[in-house]
Amino acid sequence: MNKKTKALTFSFDDGVLDDERLVGILDKYGLKCTFNLNSALMSNRNTWNYNNKKLVLHMNYTDCINLYEKHEIACHGYTHPDFSKLDYNTTYNDIYIDKKILESLFDCKIKGMAYPFGVYDEKTLKILAELGIVYSRGVHSTYSFELPNKLLELEPTCHYREKEIYRLIDDFINSSSSEPLLFYIWGHSYELVTEDDWQDFENICKKLSNRDDIYYCTNIEAIEWMKTFE
Ligand SMILES: [Zn+2]
Repeated sequence: MNKKTKALTFSFDDGVLDDERLVGILDKYGLKCTFNLNSALMSNRNTWNYNNKKLVLHMNYTDCINLYEKHEIACHGYTHPDFSKLDYNTTYNDIYIDKKILESLFDCKIKGMAYPFGVYDEKTLKILAELGIVYSRGVHSTYSFELPNKLLELEPTCHYREKEIYRLIDDFINSSSSEPLLFYIWGHSYELVTEDDWQDFENICKKLSNRDDIYYCTNIEAIEWMKTFE
């Protein structure tokens, strides 16, 4: 098991066409990510307009089967619902079927999730535990590298578009703490609209890459790494 005291993980949601370019950058710098997918929406026919900036297309399943090979696949709700608005049985059904379909399509065991809209409630936490999901992510930045203690209420360090990320990168790289530090960055690839946006993201990746003291890992690998410090 990896005994480095710094771990870096990424998490991107929704499984959209822009993930192709994103994965190219992550792979170029040896960074690891978890992709949270909605199995009912895996077709280019599912589109939406992102703030009048661009038309976003979900990926066809056939296009992403090999794309995410070096990364982790996790649930994001079968139809990307707000679980707080669904009853128990419908929520259970949505997560159960999403997990089953993704496990079958990607031939893997799914252990993680990101909450659609970052929303969850007591009922959803209970269902996830029943279905063997060990961690699930919200959308509220902690601006911290502290290891989370409630894995089904995991919150990220920050979103990659937040200006605080540059200070956090410096703090993370320069830290010589003997305590374990987890840097958890999340986002959506469709938010990278202009060439400048893509360049900013690539600069973030470059700055964090190729460091001997950082463990580059998917979300589930980060969870397993954390357990070695318990
Ligand atoms: Zn989403």
